[in-house]
Amino acid sequence: MLGAVLYGPRDVRFEERDIPRIMKPTDAIIRISATCVCGSDLWPYRGIQPIAQPTPMGHEYCGIVEEVGNAVTSVKPGQFVIGSFFASDNSCSNCQVGYQSSCQHAEFIGTAQASVLRVPLADGTLVPTPAVPSDDLIPSLLTLSDVMGTGWFAADAASVKPGSTVVVVGDGAVGLLGVLSSKQMGAGRIIAMSRHASREGAAHIKELTNGIGADSVLECVGTQESMLQAISTSRKGGYVSYVGVPHGVELKGEQLFFAHVHLHGGPAPVRRYLPEMIELVWNRKINPGKVFDLTLSLDQVAEGYRAMDERRAIKTLLRP
Ligand SMILES: [Zn+2]
Ligand SMILES: [Zn+2]
Repeated sequence: MLGAVLYGPRDVRFEERDIPRIMKPTDAIIRISATCVCGSDLWPYRGIQPIAQPTPMGHEYCGIVEEVGNAVTSVKPGQFVIGSFFASDNSCSNCQVGYQSSCQHAEFIGTAQASVLRVPLADGTLVPTPAVPSDDLIPSLLTLSDVMGTGWFAADAASVKPGSTVVVVGDGAVGLLGVLSSKQMGAGRIIAMSRHASREGAAHIKELTNGIGADSVLECVGTQESMLQAISTSRKGGYVSYVGVPHGVELKGEQLFFAHVHLHGGPAPVRRYLPEMIELVWNRKINPGKVFDLTLSLDQVAEGYRAMDERRAIKTLLRP
């Protein structure tokens, strides 16, 4: 089987890897229909988050179940399934309150840029679609595995409600789908922010909101600048969610104390939202697959990374 392996900064190779097999009775093996490159893959790709050894890549996936372990009861071979980048049992205390990405048995799925994938805890992790989808639905279904699920969590964690004024910090793939999610949740006004000096951006939002600030702010980048911008853009009593993996973010206690905001973020518990999001995509109410502006065959994975690194693409879809 061929798959993507990162060797070092800007060195992704498409090479022979072992075919995944059932290792535990709770595993499933799926044949990947589509996978993609994530903004978070660019941290190790750029060497900002160094790797110790050649590392298989990819955590966003959907595909057809090929085989399941003896203990798996809720998915079966032939079904089209989507799962989160964290496998979860969907039954422990953390899962029961909707934080499956902090499952007590969570396992990160990091080998999805390949033609075949092993998914642990298949019953808790994978959600089947009503039938095998037509080809045009696959990009949108794939986004539910992470990027759309993360945008949706960002909007939910920032308590977006009908009529809310929403600011989305970051116009990458997650930010764009944070906009789509906020719209779906009934936001009255959505302001997307790209790269601004943080004070300048916050002042501009204050101007746009009669000096009050936004009800909900979605931080979708993960830098010091974007986090400070998000907090200073919120109204008093407002909600700030943060879903960009933080790199070098430090917050001062005093600043937080006087900000008077609700802060809620972390790795998105995508699994919580999968049934609802699948229904919306299946019934063509949302089309988050539009976020992919480059589609390549899986063997061109290195070009997929390069295009995102050089900002020629927002997000690359890969088809085996
Ligand atoms: Zn991702
Ligand atoms: Zn759990």
